[in-house]
Amino acid sequence: PKVSPFLEPGPLTKVNSLAILQLSRDNLQPVYLKSPADEHDGYAEGAVVNTRYGSFPHSTMIGVPWGSQIRASKVDTGSRGRKRKRQLDGDAGRDAASPNENENDNDNGHEAEAEAEARDTDGPAASNGIKEAVADTSGFIHILPPIPEIWTMSLPHRTQVVYTPDYSYVLHRLRARPGAVIIEAGAGSGSFTHAAARAVYNGYPTATCPRKGKVVSFEYHEQRYHKMSVELSEHGLEEIVHLTHRDVYKDGFLLDGKSPEADAIFLDLPAPWDALHHLSRRRPAQAVAGASSSGGDEVPWVSVLNRKRSAYICTFSPCIEQVTKTVSAMRRLGWVDIEMVEIAHRKLHTARDRVGLNLAIDRGVNNSARDVDEAMARLTEIEDRFREHSRPKGGAGGSAAAGGDVDDMDEDDDDKAAVAAAEAPTDGDASSPASSSIPSWMDGRLVARGEAEIKTHTSYLVFAVLPREWTAEDEAAAAEKYPCGA
Ligand code: SAM
Repeated sequence: PKVSPFLEPGPLTKVNSLAILQLSRDNLQPVYLKSPADEHDGYAEGAVVNTRYGSFPHSTMIGVPWGSQIRASKVDTGSRGRKRKRQLDGDAGRDAASPNENENDNDNGHEAEAEAEARDTDGPAASNGIKEAVADTSGFIHILPPIPEIWTMSLPHRTQVVYTPDYSYVLHRLRARPGAVIIEAGAGSGSFTHAAARAVYNGYPTATCPRKGKVVSFEYHEQRYHKMSVELSEHGLEEIVHLTHRDVYKDGFLLDGKSPEADAIFLDLPAPWDALHHLSRRRPAQAVAGASSSGGDEVPWVSVLNRKRSAYICTFSPCIEQVTKTVSAMRRLGWVDIEMVEIAHRKLHTARDRVGLNLAIDRGVNNSARDVDEAMARLTEIEDRFREHSRPKGGAGGSAAAGGDVDDMDEDDDDKAAVAAAEAPTDGDASSPASSSIPSWMDGRLVARGEAEIKTHTSYLVFAVLPREWTAEDEAAAAEKYPCGA
């Protein structure tokens, strides 16, 4: 059976599968790689992605190892290409002056178009009237596998989404593991859904872990529900994610009247407290004002929770008032170990410190050099001393990182250290290993700087546990299995 690239991406990119193109550090673009035989789009080489870094035919991105650098290609987007495209798809009404209609054009695609147009008369023409691609190394991108973390950075936002720092902690606290069943509401843009699906996926069930794992997801916004259904099927996740169009406040979490036997619940809803009475082990009519008790006692209560395990819940709310209401409802309904956590995510920027060196060079050269030769000599001397200073104490080769010098430092400290190094006396230098033995990429101290402030509040996470059910029958069975004194 087809396995989702999100669950098992394999070593190489595949045709008809999702890939994420990394144009720059934070600019990611999801693309379905199409075979040149299936997708023409007016180009001799089949489907093409146009970016500000050049044009990238899908054919150059298929069957390569994930993480590969892909060089831009010259492609024909000229009049003959468009004419041919119109012949192919019969779209004679299209404006001949419009840019190519590749589905992945971004605003910078026009640049590639104009550039290709300018080259129109130069390239070799193929017999079908469309030019062949000519290798061009002017730009490049990287091709990345569609793992949940990368998908979160590139997905089409339909709502606010849960980001990786939050969902990785949430999944850990929910004890999400292969074979687990997680209820999720609302599905929104599917960011959490993808991460949860990977966490519970049990591709190789065994006798001790027979369940396949499932995300039981709910979304009441119709359009979002439909978009997400299409996405799940395109991503090969429809087996593992069961998506239902429903208002969970009103109608709860049962599937065709049956229990999904959930081990964990994640609620990213405006009013999680209104859904909690559906997550009880027993009919909670008395416990929660307004909880549905329609049908009377004669209708058997079916709990959505796995009765053999404690249930773990997390609610995700931006406001503290929502937290207060959620915690009150949890207390009334018997949840224990209630705790609120906020993830304060801080980026660390790690780099080789060349700022201090440049500063030292600048000061040293400008303060004391009389002519160009002297400036050059001084510059070389400062660079040598700086390298010497950067080398870890007591070890040959290697960087300052090996000496553990990677703590947060403020820029002033760096500058002072660099200037001090540049101004230090040279006595004893002869006994040191030659500075030229340091490769250029290891040159300079390795420095990690954190963001000065935490800028974004995402949401408050409320965690709680509902202990497993324990009946007289459970007690009797346990007594039989573990007799007193055994
Ligand atoms: N966790 C999602 C993600 O990571 O992409 C984002 C969830 S978004 C903030 C909240 C979603 O809950 C919205 O899509 C909204 O339509 C849905 N929602 C709100 N009330 C709901 C209800 N009563 N039942 C089901 N879904 C609901």
